[in-house]
Amino acid sequence: MQQLHPVKEDWQTGLVVVAHPDDIEYGASGAIARWTKQGKRIIYLLLTRGEAGIDSIEPGRTADIRTREQIAAAEVVGVDDVRFLDHPDGVLEYSLALRRDVARVIRDVRPEVCITLNHREYFPGERLNMADHRVAGSVLIDAIRDADNRWVFPELADEGYEPWSGVHTVLVSNSPRGNHAVDIDDTIQAGVTSLRQHETYLDNLADHPEPDAFIRGITASAGENYTSTYASAFEVISV
Ligand SMILES: [Zn+2]
Repeated sequence: MQQLHPVKEDWQTGLVVVAHPDDIEYGASGAIARWTKQGKRIIYLLLTRGEAGIDSIEPGRTADIRTREQIAAAEVVGVDDVRFLDHPDGVLEYSLALRRDVARVIRDVRPEVCITLNHREYFPGERLNMADHRVAGSVLIDAIRDADNRWVFPELADEGYEPWSGVHTVLVSNSPRGNHAVDIDDTIQAGVTSLRQHETYLDNLADHPEPDAFIRGITASAGENYTSTYASAFEVISV
């Protein structure tokens, strides 16, 4: 990996948009904890409730469990505004309906920075990504533009959501194009603890790595290319 540059922190409001409960806890939540400590306002938007994520539990129950676990994970890193759109897990579609739903939240929250999980075809290490993640990140990037255009989804303005042009950056975690980083030496434990909140989900995953070793491992490897021991790496996309 190349030497990582610092992520700029001269912003106040960030909106996290991901497909599933737990997506933000795989390395990025340590950075979220740092930012909320700095006084930044961070909002989570989950496109699904991850209801298709546990093979042995039917989706209705899993949705309740994973909703609770995500809210708990957010609380650990200082986020108390967690929203769910209830699009379907596992079969998340790139659609105008989803773009409109995300654009509505962007106009409501009025963030300067949006954060998502890797939307590219592969994760670092040539591991294949999955459809829901590819859809979530792509929809977010397109919805940022929609949020800024009065004549795209004009019904949003009718609902009271005025256009918002303030998003200047998208931060993509776990991207194979990671080129920036955030020092999380002071918040690594919060990052680990946030992943631990997905207790039922992790218990039902075959061969899931232990959260402490796993999070310290991936953030230490980013740290090797940065100025801290532990770092959250991001691909920075300027809007
Ligand atoms: Zn996911």
